[in-house]
Amino acid sequence: MEKKDIDWSNLGFGYIKTDKRFVSNFKDGAWDDGIMTEDATVSISECAGVLQYAQTCFEGLKAYTTKQGKIVCFRPDLNAQRMIDTCKRLEMPVFPEERFVEAVVETVKANAAYVPPYGSGATLYIRPYMFGSSAVIGVSPAEEYQFRVFTTPVGPYFKGGAKPITIRVSDFDRAAPHGTGHIKAGLNYAMSLYAIVDAHNQGFAENMYLDAATHTKVEETGGANFIFITKDGKLVTPKSNSILPSITRRSLMQVAKDYLGIEVEEREVFFDEVKDFAECGLCGTAAVISPVGKINDHGKEICFPSGMDEMGPITKKLYDTLTGIQMGHMDAPEGWIKEIM
Ligand SMILES: *Cc1c(COP(=O)(O)O)cnc(C)c1O
Repeated sequence: MEKKDIDWSNLGFGYIKTDKRFVSNFKDGAWDDGIMTEDATVSISECAGVLQYAQTCFEGLKAYTTKQGKIVCFRPDLNAQRMIDTCKRLEMPVFPEERFVEAVVETVKANAAYVPPYGSGATLYIRPYMFGSSAVIGVSPAEEYQFRVFTTPVGPYFKGGAKPITIRVSDFDRAAPHGTGHIKAGLNYAMSLYAIVDAHNQGFAENMYLDAATHTKVEETGGANFIFITKDGKLVTPKSNSILPSITRRSLMQVAKDYLGIEVEEREVFFDEVKDFAECGLCGTAAVISPVGKINDHGKEICFPSGMDEMGPITKKLYDTLTGIQMGHMDAPEGWIKEIM
C-alpha cells in the first residue's frame, strides 16, 4: 500500500478529508448494514433532531503504526461501550459494540494510506459519531439516526517536547451533579466554547472545572481528566459522577499499578489539597498526558515542583509506559491493542 504524500511531522490537529467513511442509518427501529462511501457530505432534514435540539454524541480514538509495522488502535471496545452509555442517556439507539469496532476497523483499513508511519509521532484520528437525522419540532427524540465514522491524519501532539501548560480555575461550570458530564455528548462542548475562548484570551491553555454544586472539588478540564502525583509518589485522580470516564486515565491507573507498582487512589480531590501535589497532568486520547506546570486560581498561582520545563518524573514514567505499550515497545495487557492490518 502506497502512503499519501503528506508531511507527517508537520501535520497539525485539523480536519483533512480522507478517502472513505462509514455510514449506517437507523430507520423503523433498526440499523441498516451500513456502507463505506466516498461522499464526505451529510444530507439531512432542515428540522433534524441534531440541528434543533443537539441530539448528537461522539467518540475519539487513534490508529497508528507500531514498531512491528502493524496498524492498530487502542481499546476500541471501551469507546464502543462508552458510546452505548452516552446513547442511552440521550435517548438515542445504541450501535452494538461488535459493529462499532468493525466499523472502526473497516474505516481505518479503507484509509490505510493515511495512517502515519511508525516514529513520525503522527496518528490517524478516528471519529465515530451519531446524530438524530429525522425531523423533530416538538421536543422529543428523533425517530431516525445516522452513525458515521471518519478518519483524519493528525500531527504529533507535542512538537519539540511536552512543555508544561498553565491552566486556570474556571468560574464557569462544566457539568451539573445529575446532568450529562459523564457522557460524550456534543452539547457538553457547545456550552464550553465560551469558557475556553475566554481562557485562551486570558493566556491560559485550559480551564480547570470544579464541581458545580460546591466549587470545592476538582472535576476535569473541557476535554481531559486530571491525574495528580503526591509527594510520596502516589497517583491520585478525582472521582465524581459528572466526570467523563477517560479511557486514557483508566489505562494509566492500571499501568501505574501493574507496570510501575505505583499506588493509585480514585477519590474526591478537594481544590484545597491541589497545592500539595508534586505533579499534575491532563489525560486524554490526543496528548496521552499533558503536563500542567501552573494553575492560576483568580490571580493566585499554584506552581508544581515539577516546574515549567518538562514533565514531572512520575508523569514521564507513566507517559513512557503507556505510549510504549501502544507503540509495541512492550507487552500490552490482554485486549488493549486491536490489530487492524
Ligand atoms: C473524551 C474526553 C476525555 C478523554 O477521554 P479519552 O477516552 O481518554 O480520550 C476527557 N474528558 C472529556 C470531557 C472528554 O470528552
